[in-house]
Amino acid sequence: MRDAFARGHRDGSGGTVVGLHRRAPSLVTIKRPDEVARMRHAGSILIGILEAFETALRPGVTTAELDRLADRMMRDAGAVPSFKGYHGFPGSICASVNDEVVHGIPSSTRRIREGDVVSLDIGCIWQGWHADCARTYAVGPVAQPAALDLIDATRRAMESGIAAAVVGNRLGDVGAAIEAVAAQGGYGVVRPFVGHGIGTAMHEEPQVPNYGRPGTGLRLEAGMCLAIEPMFNLGGDEVYVEDDGWTVRTADGSLSAHFENTIAIGESSPEVLTE
Ligand code: MG
Repeated sequence: MRDAFARGHRDGSGGTVVGLHRRAPSLVTIKRPDEVARMRHAGSILIGILEAFETALRPGVTTAELDRLADRMMRDAGAVPSFKGYHGFPGSICASVNDEVVHGIPSSTRRIREGDVVSLDIGCIWQGWHADCARTYAVGPVAQPAALDLIDATRRAMESGIAAAVVGNRLGDVGAAIEAVAAQGGYGVVRPFVGHGIGTAMHEEPQVPNYGRPGTGLRLEAGMCLAIEPMFNLGGDEVYVEDDGWTVRTADGSLSAHFENTIAIGESSPEVLTE
């Protein structure tokens, strides 16, 4: 199991294995209010980019153009794109179309077409603090009506996971809440890629799986900051990493959706920093 943005490769069994990115276990850090405030500002920069995507994501646009838009907006806001150069990733965003799950590399030859299902993942660093989020969009009328249900369910799963991320609950409660939404719709839950702690690094402890058993795992505390990011497939849960070393695709070619928000767990409720 890896962070959703950790690099890996396909092993002989068709599963995915850890490549470059394996961190030693470490303590989960508790953020002070002034630190959360910096993450909130990083999140506000991403919110502006998501709004720009709503306009820019049209048939005919290339994923490289979306990448340039986001990169410019981050830098104009005094932030740095956290994906660019991360283990060599070439883009400032991940743009994953249709059966691509996550980590699609922006390309000047990848032109969005009507009916595409497009997941856009963005992260930035502002004054040393990170925020990370993703949305999936249907571009115009989709060929498969079930795509809209998949997108809706993945968003609702993210929201259910966030609602479960409260003081006193455990990580397994978050994963179980997400997994329950997938089960209702019969969607495949992508398991090799997971959410993560976030702060002065994009990927911190703990890992936040999109499945789990209620009442198990790390107990959540105020000041923990998490990126909660379900990835659901219209078909089975199997995925593989393409030969480019990054792009994750569904094994059965089915559509996939991905939503992500960065949250700070407060004393009484989770605060979403990227919505
Ligand atoms: Mg993430």
